Amino acid sequence: MIEVATSGAFIMGPQVKVLEQQLAQYVGVNHCISCANGTDALTLALKVWGVGPGDAVFVPDFTFFSSAEVVSLEGATPIFVDVNADTFNVDPTDLERAIRQVIDEGKLRPRVIIAVDLFGLPADYPAIRQVADRYSLFILEDGAQGFGGSIGNQRACSFGDIATTSFFPAKPLGCYGDGGAVFTNNDEWAMLADSYRVHGKGAFKYDNVRIGLNSRLDTLQAAILQVKLKAFADYELEAVNRVAECYTSMLGGKVKTPDIPDGFGSSWAQYTIQLDNRDMRDSLQAALKSKGIPAMVYYPTPMHLQTAFRSLQTKQNGSVASQCPVSALLSQTVLSLPMHPYLSDDDVATICNAIFTSL
Ligand SMILES: *Cc1c(COP(=O)(O)O)cnc(C)c1O
Repeated sequence: MIEVATSGAFIMGPQVKVLEQQLAQYVGVNHCISCANGTDALTLALKVWGVGPGDAVFVPDFTFFSSAEVVSLEGATPIFVDVNADTFNVDPTDLERAIRQVIDEGKLRPRVIIAVDLFGLPADYPAIRQVADRYSLFILEDGAQGFGGSIGNQRACSFGDIATTSFFPAKPLGCYGDGGAVFTNNDEWAMLADSYRVHGKGAFKYDNVRIGLNSRLDTLQAAILQVKLKAFADYELEAVNRVAECYTSMLGGKVKTPDIPDGFGSSWAQYTIQLDNRDMRDSLQAALKSKGIPAMVYYPTPMHLQTAFRSLQTKQNGSVASQCPVSALLSQTVLSLPMHPYLSDDDVATICNAIFTSL
């Protein structure tokens, strides 16, 4: 940080390039293009593919608002898909149903599947890839919460045709403000993303060849992220997995704990339990709060019920609500417990005991 301050290279300083190389290498892809935040990273990806009016983009119904917001911002239409109750991630069967429905209606052109690595667990990419190939769709991996996750020996942010992440402080790899990145193996898409993040620059900076954004990662944040990436790779990812194991061994059998499928690895952006109903969830959250333990509801509103998307429902065929029953239920029953690499076994035991006495 001092180096950046004394050099004065606050915008696109050398630390940004170095960080991008380190991130690309960690994830295992050819290109990393850093940007101002995870929402812009998604927008850049959609711009690279020219997604716009008339296009259908499939988005899980249970996610952070951003995942679908960016679709509407580009003038395309988000189509909400239900999720799996065990993994919280998009349900490949319902995804195919939604794609077929859009094709049958014949009004929108299916283009992209946005798969979200919710709470740190990669989506079911082997199954999603089969569906994407069947209908010639791109996969955009929203890895805002997924950085550090894995399937086999492949890391999150390498599964999508383009993948994105966020360095918002609460994400698995956070900076001291806003930040984000785009990942891809495709040379042309990488060049386009680099152009769109700096006002659609051409070969010469003041030759603007397309309409873009001002979405650079601050050099200060890049310097911070270099240190934090090292800690993440050296011990923080391992530490959150230890915390998760500790939670699961204490809570297992008493409340529904998160399910990590065989061969999958999570970076535990959240440790999310499920209660039987909304009353139980809300009273447990209140009881924990009274004991000074913060537990949060991610997410209290499924996408299809968000106020900003209300007008979509009348346009989409049938009752959208009845098509995402799992997402609607989860919004009433989930509770995310404190989760970070510096929680001790004693901290976890204190939290679990507070849960047992409140249930
Ligand atoms: C946080 C988040 C984003 C947006 O990231 P920002 O850096 O806050 O813009 C997008 N998608 C998901 C799933 C997120 O959790």
